[in-house]
Amino acid sequence: MTEIKFLDVGWTRRTLAKKIDEAVKRVLDSGWYIHGDELAAFEKEFAHYAGAKSCTGVGNGLDALELSLRAAGIGPGDDVLVPSNTYIATWLAVTRAGANPVPVEPLESTFNMNPDNLEEALTPQTKAVIPVHLYGQTADMDPIMEFAESKNLFVLTDAAQAHGSYYKGRMAGSLGHAAAFSFYPGKNLGAFGDGGAVLTNDPELAAKIKVIGNYGAEKKYHHDSLGFNSRLDEIQAAVLRIKLEKLDNWNWTRKELAAIYLKELADTPLILPEVPEWSIPVWHLFVVRTTAREALIKHLAENGIESLIHYPIPPHKQGAYKDKQNLSLPVSEKLHREVLSLPMGPHLKPEQVQQVCTVIKDFFS
Ligand SMILES: *Cc1c(COP(=O)(O)O)cnc(C)c1O
Repeated sequence: MTEIKFLDVGWTRRTLAKKIDEAVKRVLDSGWYIHGDELAAFEKEFAHYAGAKSCTGVGNGLDALELSLRAAGIGPGDDVLVPSNTYIATWLAVTRAGANPVPVEPLESTFNMNPDNLEEALTPQTKAVIPVHLYGQTADMDPIMEFAESKNLFVLTDAAQAHGSYYKGRMAGSLGHAAAFSFYPGKNLGAFGDGGAVLTNDPELAAKIKVIGNYGAEKKYHHDSLGFNSRLDEIQAAVLRIKLEKLDNWNWTRKELAAIYLKELADTPLILPEVPEWSIPVWHLFVVRTTAREALIKHLAENGIESLIHYPIPPHKQGAYKDKQNLSLPVSEKLHREVLSLPMGPHLKPEQVQQVCTVIKDFFS
């Protein structure tokens, strides 16, 4: 029996070995490793790809979120609306900027922020909202933008899982006032190390992000604000340029695999992810729901199939947020008890996904 891996980050390297080796050697030989031609070229290419005016490469996805908030003037005393069921980075970025994350419950069907819950979560201190395009599907942005505009809120989208996904014909990086991306190796567009970027159409915001992420210096050795160091290096930028050319192909493979899951698992007791008609997701993760999760994980493992939980503990139940433990967030808590991520990625063949489906149907029969 062959193993079916959940994820294989080495696969992209193996399929592009020659091109990547050449690019890395080119950077090494150039003698220029930070803020050079590769970064400038990648920023231009990624902004163009995602339909935004500007892209600023930064150190990682968490920094991309924090820098955006700080550049927008969000800080101590401010509340920021965040999904109750996101990866903890979304919350941490708010906390690190000095502000307070206020959770908003999601829609069970799509896992994304429910626009109808925004009004209730709003406080007089609310200055921003961070919709996350969770698992690779965009949040329902139009009602969120409408609400944000009526309350004068800054809208930062967390697009760390959504490189290449579409909302009503617009790409993830072009939604909201700014979009934060991560190039962590396991993301749909991943580097060989850490990396991130902020996309925006607002040149002033982009300029501020560049300054804060470069020691608060607009001019070298002139530090007008308390910045920090967050940069996307030349080697990662060179690698990302090569991988960006393949992103649509890889996302297409993910869509084909997701279509198999959706078809084959339709008649099982699993609750499948819903795709609204305005959405073209990129399936960073394929997440199903079941109350029989632990038994199913065991059955899959016995058949050589890896599965994972994204995420086992909601942010408000983490030790890091002891002050939020007592919040009542039943939708998020229920989702965290039921979600299960099945193998997904361009390293998989359709036959392998068929095999996962056969094993799941066998479990429920
Ligand atoms: C991965 C991820 C981040 C953080 O990205 P890093 O590059 O690991 O800092 C933020 N938000 C979401 C939703 C993510 O999945």
